[in-house]
Amino acid sequence: MINLILFGPPGSGKGTQAALLVERYQLVHISTGDLFRNEIGNNTPLGLQAKAYMSKGELVPDAITIGMLRNKVETHPEARGFIFDGFPRTIAQAEALNQLLEEEGTQVHALLALQVDDHEIIKRIKLRGQTSGRSDDMDEKVIQNRIDVYKNETTPVFDFYAHLGKSHRVEGIGSVPEIFDRLCHLIDAIDQRSALRIH
Ligand code: AMP
Repeated sequence: MINLILFGPPGSGKGTQAALLVERYQLVHISTGDLFRNEIGNNTPLGLQAKAYMSKGELVPDAITIGMLRNKVETHPEARGFIFDGFPRTIAQAEALNQLLEEEGTQVHALLALQVDDHEIIKRIKLRGQTSGRSDDMDEKVIQNRIDVYKNETTPVFDFYAHLGKSHRVEGIGSVPEIFDRLCHLIDAIDQRSALRIH
């Protein structure tokens, strides 16, 4: 089993790369952003709660997010591993994830952090906003807030896993296949080193 965290600021390409990685390695993709948008689309009470935070570019509170993530992981007992995309975004979430995976007899094997500068991120998010229908991709103030929240609340998660020797930086500028190749090289090296045998 291999469990990966795809990490990086909003608009860094996590969703795009996660979709390719799940196919290559036969993993289950869990995006907390997608899960929240799904709840909002279905008008659930959880969706209503989440929407109030998402529309401002704030983080949904940990208790709500962790509960939803746990439920999703538990519906996949057959998984060969997970790609977590957009989670964890706080230290409390990282601690909860470690505990959850430990209960399942496994762990986070690596955090892969896509490196993309602010200028490029803002350009990409605005472009995505033209087709995504996401209100948080269209409002300049909300976009900036998401970037600020990432820097203040989420970057400590990189250090959390770095202390465990699990954080890796990956250049996130280039074509989609180029970035995918970089990620695969890294994952294959981690796989070989720890004999996870994901192939
Ligand atoms: P994303 O699709 O990952 O860009 O997430 C969109 C929005 O969903 C974020 O700006 C947050 O409001 C919310 N969200 C997604 N994942 C999390 C998380 N792990 N913790 C808190 N809020 C989250």
